[in-house]
Amino acid sequence: MSTLAIVNAAQLVTLSGPRRPRTGREMGELSLVARGGMLVRDGKIAAIGPSDEIKRSLPPDAVVIDAEGRVVLPGFVDAHAHPVFAGNRVDEFEMRARGATYEEIAKQGGGIRSTVRKTRAATAGQLLEQALKHARWFLKGGTTTVEGKSGYGLSLADELKILRVVKALNENSPIEFVPTFLGAHAVADEFRDDPAGYISLVVDEMLPQVAAEHLAEYCDIFCERGYFEAEAARTILGKAKSLGLGLRMHVDQLSDGGGAALAAELKATTADHLEKTDEQGIAALKAAAVQPVLLPGSVYALGLTNYPRARAMIDAGLALVLATDFNPGSSPTANMTSVLSLACTQMKMTPAEAITASTMNAACSLGRQEQIGSLEVGKKANFTLFDCSDYRELAYWFGIPLTHSVYVEGECVYRES
Ligand SMILES: [Zn+2]
Repeated sequence: MSTLAIVNAAQLVTLSGPRRPRTGREMGELSLVARGGMLVRDGKIAAIGPSDEIKRSLPPDAVVIDAEGRVVLPGFVDAHAHPVFAGNRVDEFEMRARGATYEEIAKQGGGIRSTVRKTRAATAGQLLEQALKHARWFLKGGTTTVEGKSGYGLSLADELKILRVVKALNENSPIEFVPTFLGAHAVADEFRDDPAGYISLVVDEMLPQVAAEHLAEYCDIFCERGYFEAEAARTILGKAKSLGLGLRMHVDQLSDGGGAALAAELKATTADHLEKTDEQGIAALKAAAVQPVLLPGSVYALGLTNYPRARAMIDAGLALVLATDFNPGSSPTANMTSVLSLACTQMKMTPAEAITASTMNAACSLGRQEQIGSLEVGKKANFTLFDCSDYRELAYWFGIPLTHSVYVEGECVYRES
């Protein structure tokens, strides 16, 4: 079968090590191979080492890719994204530029609700077409695995429609999409006076159907005052767990509502956002081994400054994940290197920690640590060549696209023209 050899990488960033989330000092250890090379057979990594060694043992049928002194990294794993929606919210973007807040816009019928209206009106085919455009944006940034949440349908039919589009995306794009059900993203407009009725709809109709059709691996919830609070989270996520779904939670984004402690209590896999989480919340996450997923793109794009306390979380021994939160309202970016830049400049993470958080730790948070997240023998050959010779440049040259080419299971799926 086919054999591929990558030679002459200035740095092969492998992240080889234990197949579990990296914490503390481990987050800064990337296991670089200087002047590295890699052999790929049938889509899987067959050997890693110094380029000269790989060249010496080259099989005669190997196709050789000369990295010409570039950096090679595992494909980024984006563990928090909302890739399926209709339209955009560029009007609200301008309103915010003129001084309106996210909450004021939501009160006027904007925010999540406006995307829900457009997404309900779109056909599955239209949603897929737009989502494929989003998928190319992820790929162009070197991302090869993306979590895909529903949550812009808020009715049984529309939530199923979105999750089926996520499935279709998986089949029609080189990116692997990991589906998450987020029916509890907001209370649907028609239940405005009956939020309990909406929770019943999620628990009694949506979740059983999603599980029966195997349309999601995880269930997520937007925990915030005025959206879903602790009791609703216990009810919805308790049901999700009983159906075999893993748990992820949007918590403490707008206010410290004790969301981190709640995620710990419910043994969620991840607690996401955490902009307002305090020491007690951090300690609770640590005690329950919940992975924090930090989303600095949403703080930046909302024009705010309350970045989550990444340093305190790393010092406490939490296995940080960084993700884009790609969505049309609060974080319109699919580009992971922009997130690396924000992590270093605004949250004082080192470039190495940021890379660990967006590859290996992110893969662990999606239950895929055996397949992806690092470049090691036996894993999928998902990797990206970047036009730089030092991995730290990825976080340093902000806004400059450095992607040279992207490979999924040993096949070139994107190349800068
Ligand atoms: Zn989100």
